[in-house]
Amino acid sequence: RVKENGKNDYLLYDSEMGPTALHKLTLQHEMRKALNNGEFLLYYQPKYDLGSGKVVGLEALVRWRHPVRGLVPPGEFIPAAEESGLIVPLGDWVLEEACRQNKAWHDEGMPRIPVSVNLSIRQFAQRDLTGKVADILKNTGLSPQYLELEVTESMTMDVERATRCLVELTNLGVNISVDDFGTGYSSFSYLKNLPISRLKIDRSFVRDIQQDPDDAAIVAAIIAMAHNLQLQVIAEGVETEEQVHFLRRHHCDEMQGYFGSPPLPVGDIRKMLNSAQQSPAAYNSLPMMEH
Ligand code: C2E
Ligand code: MG
Ligand code: MG
Ligand code: MG
Repeated sequence: RVKENGKNDYLLYDSEMGPTALHKLTLQHEMRKALNNGEFLLYYQPKYDLGSGKVVGLEALVRWRHPVRGLVPPGEFIPAAEESGLIVPLGDWVLEEACRQNKAWHDEGMPRIPVSVNLSIRQFAQRDLTGKVADILKNTGLSPQYLELEVTESMTMDVERATRCLVELTNLGVNISVDDFGTGYSSFSYLKNLPISRLKIDRSFVRDIQQDPDDAAIVAAIIAMAHNLQLQVIAEGVETEEQVHFLRRHHCDEMQGYFGSPPLPVGDIRKMLNSAQQSPAAYNSLPMMEH
């Protein structure tokens, strides 16, 4: 067994494996080490109220500061983490870190806004998820109203299980939102039974809102449906002023996207919240426009 280089650990077993399988194992091995070495970090992307232009929330998005490859986006390691099960300890770390950071901002006197954390299907399948979330809230001292969990439609396929799980979680006082709404294969029926507070319209519908009348119709319909179901609705991936106009015209509640701000490291978020703290006008980082 070759030991000097961690990457060689799997070479003995690769006779039937293609380069992809070998790459996957290497990645999984590296991620395990990275978790122990503290190479993961969180960026935060602001969410804006479309009426006031104010920052009303932050979404925690994980990054990997790889010693050789630099800052690696989640699309390049979350799938392998899901497959290997490493997403569970990684997801636990993300949850705890996001709660700890948000509580620290509160303690520094920053405006109190909720942080949202993406859950993976493997985390959602854990039997003790509610217990874990409760422990993390207790350990970090963050009050539950400042934590939101983002789930995807695929997690609601087993409606009975999802209901049980989400009722437990919302009983703790946390909020639930449905991420990438409109891209899953699940039926709408879960919307009437599950304790959900917010739908996040997937970026793919928002992108061509100006050019594609079908996308415009879908976005308008999702907003109307959400409101009729007493749910809040937020548009993802908003990049242009025209998209903001459209969303305001259709009374969408909130937006998130490069038009407002990309995901930012902790220091930049602190500066943003700090300036909001000192002069509330600085909070209005979205241009005010007619509805
Ligand atoms: P998501 O939860 O739907 O997050 C939104 C993604 O869209 C983020 O990519 C964000 O940087 C990107 N984005 C935001 N605004 C815009 C925009 O205006 N234009 C474009 N083109 N993109 C925009 P990111 O950070 O690379 O994350 C990708 C996905 O990885 C996330 O999608 C989420 O599904 C997953 N992910 C990220 N962090 C975690 C985590 O801690 N746990 C789990 N389970 N999944 C995570
Ligand atoms: Mg998300
Ligand atoms: Mg999303
Ligand atoms: Mg999305």
